[in-house]
Amino acid sequence: MAIETINPYNNKSVKKFDELSEKELEGKIATADKAYSSWKSSSFAERKKLLNKVASLMKKKKKELAEMITIEMGKLIAQSEAEIDMCISVYEYYAENGEEFLKDKDVEVKDGKAFIRNAPIGIILGVMPWNYPFNQVARMAAPNIMAGNVIAIKHASNVPQCAKAIEDLFLEAGAPEGVYTNLFLSSKKIAKMAEDSRIAGMSLTGSEGAGSSLAEAAGKNLKKSVLELGGSDAFIVLEDADLENAVKSAVTGRFGNMGQACTSSKRIIVVEEIADAFLEKFKSRLEGLKVGNPLEKDTEVGPLSSEEAVKTIEKQVKETVKAGAKVVIGGKRMDREGAFFEPTILTDIKKGMTAYHEEIFGPVASFYRVKDESEAIALANDSSFGLGGSVFSKDIDRAINVASQIETGMVFINEHTASRPDLPFGGTKRSGYGRELSALGIEEFVNKKLIRIA
Ligand code: NDP
Repeated sequence: MAIETINPYNNKSVKKFDELSEKELEGKIATADKAYSSWKSSSFAERKKLLNKVASLMKKKKKELAEMITIEMGKLIAQSEAEIDMCISVYEYYAENGEEFLKDKDVEVKDGKAFIRNAPIGIILGVMPWNYPFNQVARMAAPNIMAGNVIAIKHASNVPQCAKAIEDLFLEAGAPEGVYTNLFLSSKKIAKMAEDSRIAGMSLTGSEGAGSSLAEAAGKNLKKSVLELGGSDAFIVLEDADLENAVKSAVTGRFGNMGQACTSSKRIIVVEEIADAFLEKFKSRLEGLKVGNPLEKDTEVGPLSSEEAVKTIEKQVKETVKAGAKVVIGGKRMDREGAFFEPTILTDIKKGMTAYHEEIFGPVASFYRVKDESEAIALANDSSFGLGGSVFSKDIDRAINVASQIETGMVFINEHTASRPDLPFGGTKRSGYGRELSALGIEEFVNKKLIRIA
């Protein structure tokens, strides 16, 4: 893949970047390694100051950074601004809480004394996706830099300007060279990098294929890895749910970021009793939305991230419909310039159809009717993914009981799956392993070193 900005609003190339040569890559890793030798002993006050400075620069440059996201991957401008706000909160959260999360923890022993000290481990290589180009990086960079590690990022090839801008933010904030490094690299180079003894850990957010390839390389070289992969979140609506809230949440949960989120509410599962009412309201919210330039504030439907993305979704929808599913609204690419696909609802999806099994990474809701709660749980769990999910019911004990039976890393009650700095984020099954954010996120790449005093 070329390292290139192509504006998906019109599919025109905006800017290209060269891949690093072997020699340049070696220089960057050597600089990162040197930076680690002093950053690992930096004070928490120094790390905190850096993260807070990055956050304050992002506040100052919010408009410019948000526009960069929108031009590179098509996100509606208001959502790009919200992404920058989210990032700011991630940097500030770890600046504020990192030291407390990492403080020594006593181990109870029969005699003498013992405690765990969280020590940094080195350069952490991040492989990041385009769908939240600033926020995915923040979730990995903030906790690790606070823990005394240094970061090298290979970002997705279609968001190079965002990738470079993050490195520039760190440098402007006063980070010593090598504490945060952007690597313009092809994904083919990642497996080889795992062999480098200076790389201590690897974290990837992206597809199953990319995750499995990185995990294989990391495992072969005995490196710790964290994987945040795809998902096909179930959004269960029980008959006693607040219908208005559930419908509103389904629209945001499925169509926010044009459906291109790992935790999008991809499978809407509604109990028979209220299924017709839900579907009618859900559909009506998707009618008459303003399609247009994502840089304009009043646009409600923008492009997907790329022409490739549209082609993939078009194929998945066509296959599903050919196999007997019905289109309630949308269902095809838009007849206009750019990477546009209609917001879509599919019903009558059966086991064996593409939409039943695959993740659809775009604005397509798979709508399922079920007899009751237990059928809803069984359907939710009949997925190779296990990232997030939602349960809607006015009876919180009942919702918790359903939540506890869903095989995912996260379940949200009466809201769609969401990401917040103070909530752990991650999945099970083929959605990956490890956690980001919260106190758990800062513990992934530290050496929990036992110190024992006799
Ligand atoms: P990809 O996996 O293709 O891309 C993600 C990143 O991985 C990019 O930087 C890409 O580089 C790199 N990459 C691709 N192949 C390899 C490989 N073999 N070895 C190492 N790195 C590789 O994902 P998509 O672009 O298709 O992004 C969408 C996917 O990511 C969806 O499945 C989605 O669910 C998942 N995702 C998961 C999230 C989570 O938090 N769990 C969040 C966001 C997305 P390049 O661009 O150069 O190909």
